Amino acid sequence: MDKVMLITGGSRGIGAATSSLAARQGYRVVINYRSDRTSAEALVDTITREGGAAIAIQADMAHEADIVALFDTVDREFGRLDVLVNNAGIVDQKSRVEDMSIERIDRMMRINVTGPFICAREAIRRMSTRHGGQGGAIINVSSAAAHRGSANEYVDYAASKGAIDTFTEGLAKELAGDGIRVNGVRPGVIDTDIHASGGNPDKPTTSAANIPMGRAGRAEEVAHGILWLASDEASFTTGARIDIDGGV
Ligand code: NAD
Repeated sequence: MDKVMLITGGSRGIGAATSSLAARQGYRVVINYRSDRTSAEALVDTITREGGAAIAIQADMAHEADIVALFDTVDREFGRLDVLVNNAGIVDQKSRVEDMSIERIDRMMRINVTGPFICAREAIRRMSTRHGGQGGAIINVSSAAAHRGSANEYVDYAASKGAIDTFTEGLAKELAGDGIRVNGVRPGVIDTDIHASGGNPDKPTTSAANIPMGRAGRAEEVAHGILWLASDEASFTTGARIDIDGGV
């Protein structure tokens, strides 16, 4: 396979599991990272040692110029793009809405919503059959919080993921005739570093009791859903948001 998959925030957690699985399935992988160059390069080394192909490219999803430069680098390095995984995302400290600063709300929306929009725009310009491209797939990483609304003092995060879910559905319809499928995954509690940032009240250890399957998920379990949505096996699936949450 000579297909190229770009994973934003691809050096850790769900992004890293997706990068590894994609490489094992034969994709050439572009691992985007913001600041954790060491992890990104270590993952590239591991993939390369196992016979796969991967590169790491720095870009901050909060900055349009970084995102445009990221896609330009993919053009130069690989000359094609087949799959975009909008995975990068943040949660913030617990806070009630009446105490939230405009800077916090802007940052949350910029990284979790505007960044994926700009990435999708750049991907569409390259993939769309309307623009002479060969088609492709976009997968947005949302959250179970999107449909719970999450009255847990991280309502801004839930709102950002709700926006991404609606974006997935609308974009899927807009691109259905352009050879691009657009889908999403809604992970429940997955055991990654995001919980160490302190903002997410759904800690893997404490929330197990509220998960029908009695445990948090593993990043690989989300990665398998993403890879299926990217694959030709999902050729009639667009606009879907798959819950990967242990039954929540
Ligand atoms: P994580 O913190 O391990 O990974 C997040 C990744 O996004 C990191 O690589 C981080 O560097 C990157 N990132 C953050 N801001 C960035 C920026 N400005 N520019 C570029 N990259 C940036 O956590 P994770 O759990 O692997 O999260 C991945 C995605 O899954 C996120 O969108 C998150 O909201 C979503 N999610 C996670 C869970 C969970 O329980 N872990 C549940 C639902 C949804």
